[in-house]
Amino acid sequence: MFSKLKKILPLAALGVVSSGCFAEAPRPNILLILTDDLGYADVGFNGAQDIKTPSLDALAEGGTTFTSAYNVHPFCGPSRAGLLTGRYPHKFGSQFNLPRNSLSGGLGIPTSEVYMSTVLQDAGYYTGIVGKWHLGETEQFHPNNRGFEDFYGFLNGGHNYFPEQFKASYDMQTSRGQEHSIFSYLKPLERNGVEVEENEYITDGLSREAVNFIEKAGEDKDKPFFLYLAYNAPHSPMQAKQEDMDMFPEINDKKRKVYAGMVYAVDRGVDRIVKALKDTGQYENTLIVFLSDNGGKPNLGANNAPLAGKKGDVLEGGFRTPMFFHWPDNVAENTVYEHPVTTLDFFPTFAQLAGAELPDGKQLDGKDIWSYLIDGKSAREGEMIYAMRHRFGYSDASARKDNWKAITTGGKWRLYDLSNDVAEQNDVSDEHPFVLREMQAEMESWAWTHAQPLWFHIHEEGTNWREKAMPRFHETFPPLNNN
Ligand code: CA
Repeated sequence: MFSKLKKILPLAALGVVSSGCFAEAPRPNILLILTDDLGYADVGFNGAQDIKTPSLDALAEGGTTFTSAYNVHPFCGPSRAGLLTGRYPHKFGSQFNLPRNSLSGGLGIPTSEVYMSTVLQDAGYYTGIVGKWHLGETEQFHPNNRGFEDFYGFLNGGHNYFPEQFKASYDMQTSRGQEHSIFSYLKPLERNGVEVEENEYITDGLSREAVNFIEKAGEDKDKPFFLYLAYNAPHSPMQAKQEDMDMFPEINDKKRKVYAGMVYAVDRGVDRIVKALKDTGQYENTLIVFLSDNGGKPNLGANNAPLAGKKGDVLEGGFRTPMFFHWPDNVAENTVYEHPVTTLDFFPTFAQLAGAELPDGKQLDGKDIWSYLIDGKSAREGEMIYAMRHRFGYSDASARKDNWKAITTGGKWRLYDLSNDVAEQNDVSDEHPFVLREMQAEMESWAWTHAQPLWFHIHEEGTNWREKAMPRFHETFPPLNNN
């Protein structure tokens, strides 16, 4: 529970303090922009040399960028489950992506896990989600029953981008009587449970809906909003508008050019959204957070430089994300925050800014980072951030603590000093055996809190899990005297 005494006032509130009397802190609107499979070096503000993202870069420059922001998991479903619940998805059996037949299976993130959206809605926020859901399709898991008043988008893990193409495929398969087996990426989008006809390139359609939401929210400024804008770009299928690709005549690699166009479409959308915030007088009191849900896939044109690894890995490139916070007069501009944070921190941080009460018994794995962010100090000195991805018969596991990174990808544990080796090239476990042992031991304790998976993304994963009697943590975490 949040105690009022512990509540930290945003700087805007401090600015209106007069004669020893504290004014009520204005509660910010919260705009959470999540991209999908965006690489660490795929936005200008985070080092992209070839992809232009002027709108995102302007926001990043007017705010604080994070160099060590981590996703909860290196791929989509568990990352999003962690973000919205504020808890490691392994603890509630959601450590795999939902299977394609999750609808018929009635599968989804357990409703016993309260989402951030519900807490903000209960605190009086106008809540909306635009874009990709990927957390369950049946009624009890639907966004409208999980704290979001408005939903526009698709419930599955992705979507094709050009309506004229996906509608034609959908219509053809429907006319053949194949509607039950049509790939979800081709199905119509929906608004609050009702099918709609989307006629724009999907990224543009989602930007349009975000603008509409912001305009609607602007009609009642006494009621702050929370908008979760979950673009599926630049997730596959790799489909960009020609005009967006034409922005990059100097990119010759075909995959990179398509990818760049998809990212640029997001940037164009963000420009429209910023304009809508300004036009409706909400820009000054909106916290804008931008990030990706996991690392990029280089084979599809992404670039995670200078990090090693890619989407799905517990190397830094798998789950360290480009990120910024922007809120005029409240978040420092032109500032870089280098200490480790995780998207698990969003729930407690946003709840505090919103003055929201947490449900009794709600357990959170992250922490309210606001005062640390303002002071430029680490929010978790000596504390760990974990990543674990199960593979066939073993697990990839890693932990970040201060400048240290401990990692196993099925074999020997390695230790890296990220302060001078962000690319994880120089294993220093022999020089610092006790650092590694302590991190392993802490991570093993964390691992014992995990629940068995409630589902598997593909058949082979489930078969293998059972045949190999996973999770086999006795192998992931070797006896300390034997390492
Ligand atoms: Ca993703």
